Amino acid sequence: MNQPKAIGFDLFNTLMTAHPNTMKEAHENQMRVLHEEKIEVEPEPFGKAYMEAAIKFIKAAHKDGRETHNSLWVAEALQSFGHSLSPEDPRIARAVEAYFSAFYPNSKLIPGTKELLAELGERYPLGMITNFTDGPAARHIIEVLGLNPFFRHVIVSAEVGYRKPHPHIFEQFVEAMCVPADQILFVGDDLDADVQGSRDAGMQPVLTTCVDDAKIPAAKTPLSPVEKEYPDDVPRISTWQDLLDLLEA
Ligand SMILES: [Mg+2]
Repeated sequence: MNQPKAIGFDLFNTLMTAHPNTMKEAHENQMRVLHEEKIEVEPEPFGKAYMEAAIKFIKAAHKDGRETHNSLWVAEALQSFGHSLSPEDPRIARAVEAYFSAFYPNSKLIPGTKELLAELGERYPLGMITNFTDGPAARHIIEVLGLNPFFRHVIVSAEVGYRKPHPHIFEQFVEAMCVPADQILFVGDDLDADVQGSRDAGMQPVLTTCVDDAKIPAAKTPLSPVEKEYPDDVPRISTWQDLLDLLEA
């Protein structure tokens, strides 16, 4: 492969995982705040309505590439129980904030990640593009994990308004990295968002299956990733050592 001049990484299930309990705790936190705000809904039916709304909005986001936000899902779920609140309502903002607070203690780096980034960081500028519906929450997760010092640039889909694989988010990334697209290697676990997206943007994709291969338990998103066939001309790594070896090849 062509020696890259910069390396980009996805975040979730590439550099880190969220513990499988995260979603359950997030839901409980969200329910607690709704209750404090005197918005009375039963946890179970609300959870179901919330999930249905989430899936609907995430499907639309997959279709047009525009990022969605949890406040829309909460507002729609509340609406189905007769609570008419705008997605901009500060009570919803508080509930969403509480939801994401479950991610901070439950986020863990893949073993060896800091060592890898320190080593690569001496040779390449590093960047990150993460699909995450909430900008401040994504920034906080990255901060808690201590990842900021390693990256020249971090792009969050919520802040850009578009999510991977939309070309717009990759274009912003290339510009920010100040390295031509075809000299950037992009490492991610999602065949559609990361592999197809970075390839369409002219980068060299690398698929990571480190999380699955090391059987690291990870939280599932409401909607499973878009099904894609694995293009066998794309390198796949199963450990961080595989990535170092690939860069030596
Ligand atoms: Mg990922």
